[in-house]
Amino acid sequence: MNKVYAVGIGPGGREFFTEEAMQALENADVIAGYTVYVDLVRDLFPDKEMYTTAMKQEIERCRWAIETAKAGKSVAMVCSGDAGVYGMAGLLFELADQYGDVEIEVVSGVTAAISGAAVLGAPIGHDFCLISLSDLLTPWELIEKRLRCAAEGDFAVCLYNPRSKKRSDYLEKAVKILMEHKSGDTVCGWVKNIGREGQEYRLVKLEDLPGEPIDMFTTVFIGSDSTRIISGRMVTPRGYEKRSEFQR
Ligand code: SAH
Repeated sequence: MNKVYAVGIGPGGREFFTEEAMQALENADVIAGYTVYVDLVRDLFPDKEMYTTAMKQEIERCRWAIETAKAGKSVAMVCSGDAGVYGMAGLLFELADQYGDVEIEVVSGVTAAISGAAVLGAPIGHDFCLISLSDLLTPWELIEKRLRCAAEGDFAVCLYNPRSKKRSDYLEKAVKILMEHKSGDTVCGWVKNIGREGQEYRLVKLEDLPGEPIDMFTTVFIGSDSTRIISGRMVTPRGYEKRSEFQR
């Protein structure tokens, strides 16, 4: 069967793997992906063929998976979090279209926004959006526009790829744009190494985010106007407090 599974394995530890992800890895003849993610599953399947590539080799990696599937072996392409959220799922569909006769099956995983939110409390309990600050594939002007619209729409915002060595000032620029419509006091939080060794988090004000030790292994949460700190946790209420039964 000519099949490529796009498998999200969650943020890190085994406890985040879904049963469906495990089954896809078991079913596949080859497990492929960025070295760091393949290493996370290597000891579970010691006898399985593995194919790893360096970061930023996405097109080559996906083409290899499709060509290998076409040659008769099923391939599981592992991604962190969810394969469809800044992952390989979309690219696999786009490339498979050039070949035909290859099936892509997406296996959902726990994306960093979801696993990180659980660490902080309930920061995305109402309308929210995800924005990546990486301009490798997206023009910075479009990222700015989306930040501005998200702030104007009073969304809670999760930022992926918030800062790297090359893009050290992007978070600062993003905060400046968000503050055109959001107060500097807006409740925010960040979580680093979610589900991995060294997990840490902190709650901070929007205006203080740029000074925080945020890097590319961090997901940043920016509250909406109604986001509050309740018992030390970041919570975006959904509106239940307006109901009469809420009062005791
Ligand atoms: N497919 C992944 C996202 C890849 S984009 C997913 O669904 O989670 C990479 C960005 O995701 C990182 O820069 C970071 O902002 C976030 N991220 C992914 N894994 C993370 C983790 N374990 N801890 C904190 N942030 C993470």
